[in-house]
Amino acid sequence: MNHLHFQQHGDHGVLTFDREGSSANLFDRQALVELSDKLDALSAHPELKGLLIRSAKPSIFIAGADLKILSSAEGDDLRDLIELGQATFQKLARLPYVTVAAIHGACVGGGYELALACDWRIASDAPATRIGLPETQLGILPAWGGTTRLPRLIGLAKALPLILGGKVLTAGAARAKGLVDAVVPRENLESHALTWLDRGKRPPAHHPLLHNPLSVSLIGTKARKALQEKTRGLYPGPAAALDVATKGCQRSLEHGFDLEKEAILRLSTLPQTHQLLRLFFLQERAKKHQLVDADPRPVGNCAVVGAGVMGAGIAYWLSARGHPVIMRDLDPTALARGMKAIHKNYDEARKRRVFTATEAARGIDRIQPSAVPVPLDRCDLVIEAAVERLDIKQQVFADLSARTRHDTILATNTSALPIHELAGSITHPERLVGLHFFNPVHRMQLVEVVRTAATSDVTLATAIAFVRKLGKLPVVVRDSPGFLVNRILMPYLVAAAKLFEEGVDPKEIDGAMLDFGMPMGPIRLLDEVGLDVAAHVATTLAEAFPDRMTVPDLLGKLVADGHSGRKAKSGFYIYDGNSISPNPAAVALQTDEAPAPADLAARLAQAMSHEARLCLDEGVAETADDIDLAMVLGTGYAPFRGGPLQYELTHPS
Ligand code: NAD
Repeated sequence: MNHLHFQQHGDHGVLTFDREGSSANLFDRQALVELSDKLDALSAHPELKGLLIRSAKPSIFIAGADLKILSSAEGDDLRDLIELGQATFQKLARLPYVTVAAIHGACVGGGYELALACDWRIASDAPATRIGLPETQLGILPAWGGTTRLPRLIGLAKALPLILGGKVLTAGAARAKGLVDAVVPRENLESHALTWLDRGKRPPAHHPLLHNPLSVSLIGTKARKALQEKTRGLYPGPAAALDVATKGCQRSLEHGFDLEKEAILRLSTLPQTHQLLRLFFLQERAKKHQLVDADPRPVGNCAVVGAGVMGAGIAYWLSARGHPVIMRDLDPTALARGMKAIHKNYDEARKRRVFTATEAARGIDRIQPSAVPVPLDRCDLVIEAAVERLDIKQQVFADLSARTRHDTILATNTSALPIHELAGSITHPERLVGLHFFNPVHRMQLVEVVRTAATSDVTLATAIAFVRKLGKLPVVVRDSPGFLVNRILMPYLVAAAKLFEEGVDPKEIDGAMLDFGMPMGPIRLLDEVGLDVAAHVATTLAEAFPDRMTVPDLLGKLVADGHSGRKAKSGFYIYDGNSISPNPAAVALQTDEAPAPADLAARLAQAMSHEARLCLDEGVAETADDIDLAMVLGTGYAPFRGGPLQYELTHPS
């Protein structure tokens, strides 16, 4: 027995999950067998009136199935594991007395499927509490009863977006959607959950209006259409979950379980699933793998220089994670705009129940905007996010050097400038590092941590630990032009711009890459990034690699004529409200009118794979896995393809 313990208190029992020697509770075969045996024993306790299920871990209820086992189990092994999970949770559901799950911390996948088999679910309001069924994000589906039980609990129409989107919710959002019955402060969680035992067994929910053949067919058709628009048929996991949920909600539970099992057995053999699971493990590794042999220093007070798009985004994220932040800009108008953007971010997070109103107000209070120079000697780390000009950044760093302690880490968010050229502006250049956040900061998980030749191990270790504490994933890269993500992305964007120049319809170029699985086509992406910014990065790279990178003249011409992209409402496309159409001024610059080549997507994808290979050979990143993960997180590179170096393996040029 090393996953569970049981205690009886009068007429009720308490079953505590506490996997020995681990900070997480997970379901592997042994944990399921242990639970199953315990439930057998418990079903023979006529004196019990109820059972409370809890976790002893500080921030995890049950984090779901042990995916290592799931990814290595095949055929009959996997079938056994699925059947064992389904049967065990059925035993829980069939206990003759009331059951309540007291949820604090991550309650996802198999963890929430266990909770679904209880009568009642009460959650703590702590930020660590996260609830949902993310399986479809990994190419599989909830197959320990989740795909069958959730529609029965909250109705098919509400359950489908959660299952198909693999959504994981805060406690408040989970309550609003009916995933849990109540949300209470952590300190009252168990005493409050016990009161639910008095309510008796939960009466089964019936959804006669929703779960009749006609409604199910309508809901299914609508969901299928939305899914096709979102995934373009590239992700078999959510498609299978949709099928199982719609069929399962009209038949017996057991029939639903069989459908779940057959679907996961099929999905587990697909290459897409293999890639999605691989990326999951790479992310887990990026969260904790020791990358440098030095102890990080603690980081408390921070400052951000520049209150533009990136500076304000970074200041928001730091303050939201508890850091006091001085946000400095030369321009009071820019500061006011930055604060407005930060207020908007907090408002949106509050609406999504990420923060309470008090937490949001406290977060905003942690930011001290300043249009005049202020002492920075209390700052442990400063991030520069001023305009992308080396001379300006050198001035900023000289000033920072004079204003900070000698051990304050000085970081730059530059997109492509050589970081070592800032080293001469400061004392103690071993504290200089790149922290390249992506736009929008609150959504993008990747941060490139750029090491210069002078960066010390302690600085690097501190930067990595800081990024992880922010809830972001670091990829360590060498200080070289464009670092990793922009360097690999740029040849792809340039190749797309050249195809456009040769006369290919921009919608065909973008459509081909959407069908490939990119979140946005390259021509649209150029407009979003800004043609001026793209031209600037392309120029930096062309100077560094003159024999193989060029900047299409077209970009410069469009920028000169005021067509700098989305921000000007005019670039390759014209943006008019919701309508987007090719810009006649850009079309007029096409040299010819050419049909799209048949291998358009492969050609553009290979531009990325080729550059990724060079980055690996040059040691810009340490491993192929780092490169693949960075491209998926930094650009949304089609996750089911696993990244540009996995693509190269299956599609050699
Ligand atoms: P921005 O133009 O929106 O903001 C720059 C801000 O810096 C302006 O408010 C300006 O007033 C301020 N500034 C200029 N000189 C200053 C000085 N000496 N001291 C204090 N403030 C000063 O630019 P941005 O898009 O936020 O980019 C900032 C940096 O981040 C650039 O290096 C850029 O390459 C990089 N970056 C941008 C993106 C992006 O998508 N926008 C993504 C990653 C990195």
